[in-house]
Amino acid sequence: MKDITKTCSEKLSVFKAFMEVMVEDNYRNNFFPADVATRNMENINKIVSASGIKKYWKEYLGSDKNKLKRSADVYITMPYCKSKCSYCIYFQELSSPRKLEDYKTNLINEMKYFADIIGKMRIKNIYFWGGTPSLFTEDQLEDICKAIKKHINQKSVITQAFEYHPSDVSLKKFQILKKYGFNSIDLGTQSFNSKELKICNRNYKSISVIKSAVENAKKAGFADINIEMIAGLAGQTPESFLKSFKQALVLSPSSILLYDLQPSVEYLKKYFKGELSLFQKHLKGIKNKSFSALKTLASEHGFDCPCEEKFYSSKTRAVALEFSNKRVKGKDIDFESSEKLSFFGFGQPALSGISNSIMYSAMPLNNKAAKNQFNLKKLSKRDNMLVWLMDQFTFNECLDMRKFKEEFSKDIEVVFKEEFEYLNSLDKILIKNNKIFLNETGARERWKLLMFFMNYKGLFSGLNIVAHIASYPYDLAYMFRLIDPPRFRD
Ligand code: SF4
Repeated sequence: MKDITKTCSEKLSVFKAFMEVMVEDNYRNNFFPADVATRNMENINKIVSASGIKKYWKEYLGSDKNKLKRSADVYITMPYCKSKCSYCIYFQELSSPRKLEDYKTNLINEMKYFADIIGKMRIKNIYFWGGTPSLFTEDQLEDICKAIKKHINQKSVITQAFEYHPSDVSLKKFQILKKYGFNSIDLGTQSFNSKELKICNRNYKSISVIKSAVENAKKAGFADINIEMIAGLAGQTPESFLKSFKQALVLSPSSILLYDLQPSVEYLKKYFKGELSLFQKHLKGIKNKSFSALKTLASEHGFDCPCEEKFYSSKTRAVALEFSNKRVKGKDIDFESSEKLSFFGFGQPALSGISNSIMYSAMPLNNKAAKNQFNLKKLSKRDNMLVWLMDQFTFNECLDMRKFKEEFSKDIEVVFKEEFEYLNSLDKILIKNNKIFLNETGARERWKLLMFFMNYKGLFSGLNIVAHIASYPYDLAYMFRLIDPPRFRD
């Protein structure tokens, strides 16, 4: 791996230049600084054949006499959508009947090719997401589900989730999913307000489709139905936001997941005169005026509420707020996996990881799975430290130096000595009781700071920490430059 920063002073100048780019960025404090993410610094990918990938998995499985001890999650990705929603940072490509059919064939061939791996491992969770996986026709969906059943070991699966677009109300599709073991539906409704949906270019006009989708999912036997909503959409008001939320409650899903909009630069330009501050004011207004009403409404409908602090917190990342239905048992999620970085991705651009040591993603799929090629990166110890930092920056208000030592047997202040010294000189951090806190400014710039760590040694050619919670593997993929952030392809 080439280190573009050979001497300490060179390092510092790259480092400073990088910080200047961020500080001078028009979208100051934007946690998606697109301009920075597109600045290539270094490319460290390696291209590997399908048989090479299989070899890596076999080596991993081979060291375990009882192969079923090796567990992984499976992510199946569908890249196509019927139209592009204006707020979306995940959009890949518009669909066509031909593309869907070809993609289905390629997916199935891929599963078949890797059946000797995924048929042996203990699979804990299967996620089928997009794009818009519900765009597949009923027949296509059934063919894919049959392949899942045939090639993936589903015996130990806890959650088998499918991301469903509410405009697709087919009862038959829900029944197919249920028949083949899916037990959780994520419904990306975002809003129940037709004006907001129109602004966002959602491809349905009436909110009655959302109702039908929920009804059909229930009719097909799904208990775990999660409605996703966004706060901060252009055209949204505190009143319209509350009204949408109430409509979601009335449908009695197992949970409502509320996300803050993460605006892309294009979105800001289009709806907020390019000003992040205007957007932040808009979002804050919606939240300030609605939280107590949200809580009351949720309780009245039998939903548990997240704590107020989480809703307002500017110090921690805006995670999804989950309002869970007390009357419905949601899915069990095993967060405590010791092998959390082993996951098998199918499709393109799906990301896979083998036990904290290798990450890879497929390049455009071939209809002969054996001919597929993959971008691969071997993870160094430092890479894993950065992943740890990414987690800490995301979920916590501070970096716990003792925890770092427990995890990596090294001192964080030694490993990242220069970085911390530099941040200290900028007054971005505070070290107290073996904990490193981001000060007020640092906390607001946590994503910039994270990118700063990522790029400091020239390890990463760019980074797009988008909706980190919602799509952890994707963030890692961007981080390790295994896939391009889709937003920059438009
Ligand atoms: S929000 Fe969903 S449906 Fe809309 S463009 Fe993004 S991935 Fe596609």
